[in-house]
Parts: sequence; structure tokens; C-alpha cells
Amino acid sequence: MSDEQHQNLAIIGHVDHGKSTLVGRLLYETGSVPEHVIEQHKEEAEEKGKGGFEFAYVMDNLAEERERGVTIDIAHQEFSTDTYDFTIVDCPGHRDFVKNMITGASQADNAVLVVAADDGVAPQTQEHVFLARTLGIDELIVGVNKMDLVDYNESDYKQVVSEVEDLFKQVQFNTDDASFIPISAFEGDNIAEESDNTPWYDGEILLEALNGLKPPEPPTDAPLRLPIQDVYTISGIGTVPVGRVETGILNTGDNVSFQPSDVGGEVKTVEMHHEEVPKAEPGDNVGFNVRGIGKDDIRRGDVCGPADDPPSVAETFQAQIVVMQHPSVITSGYTPVFHAHTAQVACTIESIDKKMDPSSGEVAEENPDFIQSGDAAVVTVRPQKPLSIEPSSEIPELGSFAIRDMGQTIAAGKVLSVNES
Ligand code: GDP
Repeated sequence: MSDEQHQNLAIIGHVDHGKSTLVGRLLYETGSVPEHVIEQHKEEAEEKGKGGFEFAYVMDNLAEERERGVTIDIAHQEFSTDTYDFTIVDCPGHRDFVKNMITGASQADNAVLVVAADDGVAPQTQEHVFLARTLGIDELIVGVNKMDLVDYNESDYKQVVSEVEDLFKQVQFNTDDASFIPISAFEGDNIAEESDNTPWYDGEILLEALNGLKPPEPPTDAPLRLPIQDVYTISGIGTVPVGRVETGILNTGDNVSFQPSDVGGEVKTVEMHHEEVPKAEPGDNVGFNVRGIGKDDIRRGDVCGPADDPPSVAETFQAQIVVMQHPSVITSGYTPVFHAHTAQVACTIESIDKKMDPSSGEVAEENPDFIQSGDAAVVTVRPQKPLSIEPSSEIPELGSFAIRDMGQTIAAGKVLSVNES
């Protein structure tokens, strides 16, 4: 990895449309597969008299990981382009992808949407575009994949592009913020080199589009927010909360506050990768120790922040949600479980304030009686237990949530405003 700027990239799209294959292709084309591994495979392939082994190798390796049920799968793979170091943050197909994507476990800066040319927009294409939109991903690169299966036919490509554009309109995603590229992840068309198979296409190839993404803004300017994942007792040290710094900086000597538990103290030590460090930054997973805090004083779901700018605790909050899948209708009084950062709290949808018209973004109906799958709405929410959450406009990392019920993610949302208790 170089010193280039970093981008967290999500690869989204319907199952089997080619996400894993595209990741393999990107790793291969950017030389991110270790040389010794390629060498080893080259020898094997030569012995067996097979050509075109390198890309096959990457794919075999990914397939093997998948068979072993390894959760890393294609997520957490890294590759570098001329402009950025990319980390693939998560990939749909993981059971908890939708939840992870929303609760911040895998905050993506940008996304590549993969749509197979021979299948077009499919249910998960819709779901992931809804999510990307709700979570504030501003730019989407759309790879119309498997062009080889439609003989690189321009009209098939155009048909898929127009289906995706219709979907964008539905969720109020500005089509100007998306780029469309005809690709074949399998054959390598328009990924690292312009393809001879698509003479009718003169736009950017995929690596160019990735290089052209806007740089993400590092969230270090925001106040410290560190959601607690677990609390341990370690002999010789004492109580050690662990979690990932989402925003701001954690320094030893800082005075911190845990909310909603409402306790605090001075940070004595910060540890990362089993070593003591003076400070931790966004993205760092840390364990730390705070003077005077016992194991039962704090818990998973608490958020640590500066004592003089503590995490907000919501009495109620207003949020914009998108209903992805609900078997019937959602009315006021509905109380599913909200997953926000590391917290899981039952919350009542106290009122449905507005239903939005997806095509225009205007208010379609004030105080509707109900909402259902596909609807976007503004709702007022009352947590049944104290919940620390922030307005998305101020601290987006702590401002989104997933709504789960019956073992499924039924809606996703972002917080518009918080009414503090
Ligand atoms: P995912 O579920 O979205 O990750 O999809 P995979 O990457 O596992 O691909 C699903 C199937 O489509 C596999 O059999 C791939 O070999 C195949 N595939 C992926 N990309 C292409 C492509 O560009 N062309 C062709 N012909 N097949 C592809």
C-alpha cells in the first residue's frame, strides 16, 4: 500500500451479477495479488499446460474462501490505483450486510453497482440502491456486467442503463452523479483497458472512473464518537471497553463521557493491536481504560465522547426512512428493534409525519395512516430505552440505523434531528 488517499468501496448488486468476479478482476489488474502466489500458480499451471492462469487463480482463491465459509470473503480486499488505496468494505451476500452497511460497521465512501446485462435490474439491485441513497453515498459507478453474454450488444446495454436510470429516479438519486460502463468482469473488458468489443462506447473505463471519485472527507474534525462493542475486565489494568473510533480523536489524558450510561473519567491508557498508543483516530479499533469506571458502569451500545461535548441521548428523534421489505403495512405504534452503531434498542414509531414522493422528492402526504414496502417517509421515533444517536447532518457515522423485525432488515434510515432527554 502506498501513501495515497484511502477509499472504502462497497460492491453492491444482485446475487450472481458478478460482484466477486469483479473484485477478483480488480485485484488481478492492479497487481494486488502477491507475486510469489502468482509464481507458484504459474508453475502449477505450466505443468498442467494451462494458459490464462493468473485471473483464474484469483477466482479459485476467492471461491475457496467462500466454500470455507470465511466471512472475509471478498470484503476487506485491498487494491491501489493511480489515485487511491481502496479497501472493499463489505459485500452483499453476507447475511448481515445490510445491517452492517447501515450500522457503520462498514462505512463505504463510494460504491460500484454491478448489474448483469443479461438480467437487468433485480430485487437486490433495488434494495442496495435504496440503501446507498439513504446512507448518503453520493456517487455510484454502475458496471453493466457480463457484456460478453449479450455479444457486447449496444442496445442490450442501453436497455439496462435505462432500467437503472428509472430506479434512480424512484429513489431520487441524481443520474448526473452516476457513471455507466459496459464491462465483463470475467473477460476483462473496460476494466483496466479500453475494450475492442465495445467500439460504440467512448466513456471512461472502470479504473478511470475509480480514480475520478471525489476524495472522502476525513471525519477527524467531528467530536470523538466511539461506540462500545464490549467491556472486558483485564487483570492488572481493570475495566477495558473496546470499540472503533468513528469520528474524532481519542487521546490519553482526555476527559470522556459514556452515554447513555452517563458516567465518565480520564483516559489512562489506549491500546491498539496489543500495544499502547498515545492516541487513536477514526477507523482504529481500540481498547482503553478510564479512571474510576467499573465493568458494570458501562455496556455495549454506549457511546464514548468528550466530557465537554458528550454523545446525544434521544428522548425522541425524527428520521427519514425507506421501507425495504415489510409483509404488511407500518402504522404508528409499531415497535421493532433499531440497530444503530453497536446499540440495539426497541423503538416505537410514534408518528408517521410525511410520506415522500420518490420521483419528485416532494411531500406526497402529510400524516399518512400507514407506509409500506418501497415507501420513503419522515417519522418520529421514541426509543423504549435510552439510546445515543446523532443527527446525520452533524455526525453521519452515528446518524443512521437499520430497523429489524422477524429476522429481517425491514427498513433503513437516517436521523434528521434529535430531541434530547
Ligand atoms: P456475485 O454473487 O455477484 O458475487 O457473483 P459472482 O462473481 O459469484 O458471479 C456469478 C457467476 O457469474 C459466476 O459463475 C461467474 O463466473 C459469472 N460471471 C461473473 N462475471 C461475468 C462476466 O463478466 N461474464 C460472464 N460470462 N460470466 C460472469
